[in-house]
Amino acid sequence: MKTIKVNVVTPDGPVHESDVEMVIAKAESGELGILAGHIPMVAPLKIGAVHLKNGSDSEYIAVNGGILEVRPDQVTVLAQSAELAEEIDYDRALRAKERAEQRLHAQKSEHVDFRRAELALQRAMNRISIVEKKY
Ligand code: ATP
Repeated sequence: MKTIKVNVVTPDGPVHESDVEMVIAKAESGELGILAGHIPMVAPLKIGAVHLKNGSDSEYIAVNGGILEVRPDQVTVLAQSAELAEEIDYDRALRAKERAEQRLHAQKSEHVDFRRAELALQRAMNRISIVEKKY
């Protein structure tokens, strides 16, 4: 099967580069499956997993939103943060989830930025699900 080059880049630098048969990503508009030769497009991504498939092998990258740019021979993911499954610190993600939940349960008078806490919770839950392989 033809392959497509995939690059995942964050403000801290490149996170991953490989040639894969298929890239599956969660765009704001729904799930996208990209094969070599895909028409060029740009799509905003949700906080979620980018799934890289090669035959029966799969690799998962936790991405914090960002942009997916598709060209016929290359997919680029530009995200605020991204970690390969094996780079995720599970305990850190559990602590982040707990902090975010406490903030979300706080009273309005406690000046919590609920949107910020909600996004932190989504990032933590995404990392946890990737480590636990529950996509
Ligand atoms: P935390 O509250 O634990 O910092 P966060 O969701 O606010 O989590 P981000 O702002 O998304 O963190 O990321 C900041 C940096 O820390 C990025 O480089 C990101 O890759 C890294 N990072 C965050 N959480 C983890 C984790 N659980 N395992 C590995 N790297 C992480």
